[in-house]
Amino acid sequence: MSKSIKLRVPLAFGDEERLYDPQTAEKGKRYFCPACQDTVILRKGEIKTPHFAHKVSEACNQETIIHKTAKQLIVDVISDWKSGKIDAPTLRRTCEICRQFKDQPLPDKVECAILEYRMSDGFVVDVALVVANEPAAAIEVRVSHAVDENKAKSLSIPFIELDGQKVIENPTIFQPIRDRFQPLTCTTCKQAKERFQVKVKEIAKQTGIELPVYYYRYGFCKCWKCKREIIVFAWPKASEWDNSAPKTEPIPRTIQYRYSNTVGGKYWVNTCPRCRSIQGDWHLFSEPDGSFFGIRCEENSRKAYNRDMQNIIGYAIYNGMLGES
Ligand SMILES: [Zn+2]
Ligand SMILES: [Zn+2]
Ligand SMILES: [Zn+2]
Repeated sequence: MSKSIKLRVPLAFGDEERLYDPQTAEKGKRYFCPACQDTVILRKGEIKTPHFAHKVSEACNQETIIHKTAKQLIVDVISDWKSGKIDAPTLRRTCEICRQFKDQPLPDKVECAILEYRMSDGFVVDVALVVANEPAAAIEVRVSHAVDENKAKSLSIPFIELDGQKVIENPTIFQPIRDRFQPLTCTTCKQAKERFQVKVKEIAKQTGIELPVYYYRYGFCKCWKCKREIIVFAWPKASEWDNSAPKTEPIPRTIQYRYSNTVGGKYWVNTCPRCRSIQGDWHLFSEPDGSFFGIRCEENSRKAYNRDMQNIIGYAIYNGMLGES
């Protein structure tokens, strides 16, 4: 059965360690499979589209061919860029706040790329990006298996993971399927984030609220009753019905243990610092224009806190609460 499986070789090595595509490869020259190094035959005729023919092999497989080809291509593209033959490859990343794609050229400080670099911790990365003579970041290529969790956690440098097939289709655009580089905030969101902080500080000052630095997520809204702008908080709960007090002191003075008719009992809830009325959870968390719409407050960790704060700011931008830039 395996005999009938044809190996597809999109690009092959020539005599130098560089990849050639069948369009530009020349007849009469020697070409090799990037995975098993076996000779491949360039078929270039009048009728068929040019391609490299790989003979049936037990020692080679399609996955390795794609994997090896993609990482070599990344190294080739970076080397072409560094020698001035082409523009910098494009990093296509997602803004952590608005979730839109943002293109940026690979930064100039990248000096070169090294194929299959062994880090001092023993891990081998597919491609290492060198900055100031040190591997500063890595590019991993995924064909069918994601970078395993152990490696992802232990890797001492930031990395992105690219889809091998996509790299072969367009090696000058790096669009991560997993992005562990420093989070990216686009210029628009950066400005909106600043406006959010200014606004929140202003309201906090007017209402005499001390802004907590951690644990209590914060946003602002108009009090449903007095219609004035106020600061509201969200904090981790074990469940929607968790009735216990917030776990971190000092508890902001507007979070109070109050009786609610809607809930039919007492619970810890936001109140208006101006008119003292309850700002119910439903209004804040479940209404599409609520300050905490979609916020999970799942756990008491920095990571969860940062993610929630980003989403709060993201919604404020989305709902037009920060005005235009
Ligand atoms: Zn092969
Ligand atoms: Zn953005
Ligand atoms: Zn009020």
